[in-house]
Amino acid sequence: MTKLRLAIVGAGPAGIYAADILLKAEKQFDVSIDLFEQLPAPYGLVRYGVAPDHPRIKGIINALREVLDSGQIRLFGNVLFGRDITLDDLKKHYNAVIFSTGSIRDAALNVPGIELEGSYGAADFVSWYDGHPDFPREWPLDASSVAVIGNGNVALDVARMLAKHADDLLPTEIPDNVYQALKASPVTDVHVFGRRGPAQVKFSPLELRELGELNDVDMIVYDEDFDYDQASKDAIASNKQVFVIDKVLTQWRARETGAASRRLHLHFHAKPLEITADDNGRVASIKYERTEPDGSGGTRGTGEIREIPIQALYRAVGYFGSPLDGVPFDEKRGVIPNREGQVLDDNDEQVYGVYATGWIKRGPVGLIGHTKSDAMETIKHVMNDQANWWAPSHPEEDAVTALLSERGVEFTNLDGWHNLDEHEKALGEPHGRVRIKVVDRDAMVKASNPA
Ligand SMILES: Cc1cc2nc3c(=O)[nH]c(=O)nc-3n(C[C@H](O)[C@H](O)[C@H](O)COP(=O)(O)OP(=O)(O)OC[C@H]3O[C@@H](n4cnc5c(N)ncnc54)[C@H](O)[C@@H]3O)c2cc1C
Repeated sequence: MTKLRLAIVGAGPAGIYAADILLKAEKQFDVSIDLFEQLPAPYGLVRYGVAPDHPRIKGIINALREVLDSGQIRLFGNVLFGRDITLDDLKKHYNAVIFSTGSIRDAALNVPGIELEGSYGAADFVSWYDGHPDFPREWPLDASSVAVIGNGNVALDVARMLAKHADDLLPTEIPDNVYQALKASPVTDVHVFGRRGPAQVKFSPLELRELGELNDVDMIVYDEDFDYDQASKDAIASNKQVFVIDKVLTQWRARETGAASRRLHLHFHAKPLEITADDNGRVASIKYERTEPDGSGGTRGTGEIREIPIQALYRAVGYFGSPLDGVPFDEKRGVIPNREGQVLDDNDEQVYGVYATGWIKRGPVGLIGHTKSDAMETIKHVMNDQANWWAPSHPEEDAVTALLSERGVEFTNLDGWHNLDEHEKALGEPHGRVRIKVVDRDAMVKASNPA
């Protein structure tokens, strides 16, 4: 029987779901899958993006783990595509490759002053609090008043992590350095800014509601933001998500505030104009223009400029993918150009043998569940394209292991991940915590591959 030797690069949900769907599909050929991941631990943004105080979502890892543990997938952790293994290498050993490398960088925001000291990208902060090994261990949490720009779920995650008391995060898996830094944070006010009105936000109702349950944090919303136009009223009446969001915000408007030591402010109809600097070139304030509904679901500027003093600013305006050596890349959208997962070159012609799925295929929007439907579409093409698969010169399974060893790549495998997983759980156990994450890459590799 023909055999499909498939490489998948990126062990986030998209890559793991793709493997699962292919293994379960009815097909006329055998399959063997090697999953390459640059980190010593799998699961991508489920481990390194989803907030630590969202254990239910983190629990998706259990389902992903079942797929890895099915015995039909080899995991090569700590292997960076582009450095440790290249597209030419993959062509020698596999019939096809799926890239599921996601996105980890912050999208740019064109506001004067955004480059000042004290202005950060949300993605970097998320990587820090979720203990990503490629990001600095230290994070400067020295501001009492902080701005977060953005009206999506990542903005809410960042605002919540900044406002929440560190001790309330202790039951989670946060690394110790993160707990210590959050514990020492002098923050009192977190201001979230969105250009549009409450009926146009991109928050999930659940994420929003959660803010109102934070211990010792007052939710501050401003009555002036609720002067709805007809388009907003229609959105509230016709869209269940918007209806719930409005309901939650309406409840907060009626709440007594003033007793909490921290405040989380939601400023709607606030378009950031400029970040000003103090004498040392650090963030000192955010200037924004009030906007108003334009009658058709959008907003327009009112010309009224306001200013709030801040000492730190986070932009949560989206993620952006990174290019991969030898693989086409759309610089504008930060994705691999593709047609339903079939990768396309500059002339929109299919690049045979090369596929994409997940955030690097579609762009950084959507929940973990969406990567499953993505993967189905991509896998359908991988299967149907059999006539155009690569013809590898060395398809033997040992060949790629030998190649990595020859190159001195200290790769980890599935047993290694189990070792690291157990090690992290053991670190948490004496403290009554589910796990404490290991952050340092060498320490992760050492725990994975004990001598
Ligand atoms: C802050 C944040 C919070 C979120 N919270 C939620 C939530 O609560 N609920 C929800 O459903 N969704 C949430 N999401 C969305 C969810 O994380 C994504 O939908 C999903 O992770 C995208 O999957 P992916 O596999 O495409 O990418 P990723 O999860 O990013 O996985 C990509 C993998 O590829 C690896 N990789 C990258 N480059 C290379 C390379 N060159 N060589 C080898 N490996 C490489 C990466 O290390 C990573 O492991 C959140 C996202 C963010 C950013």
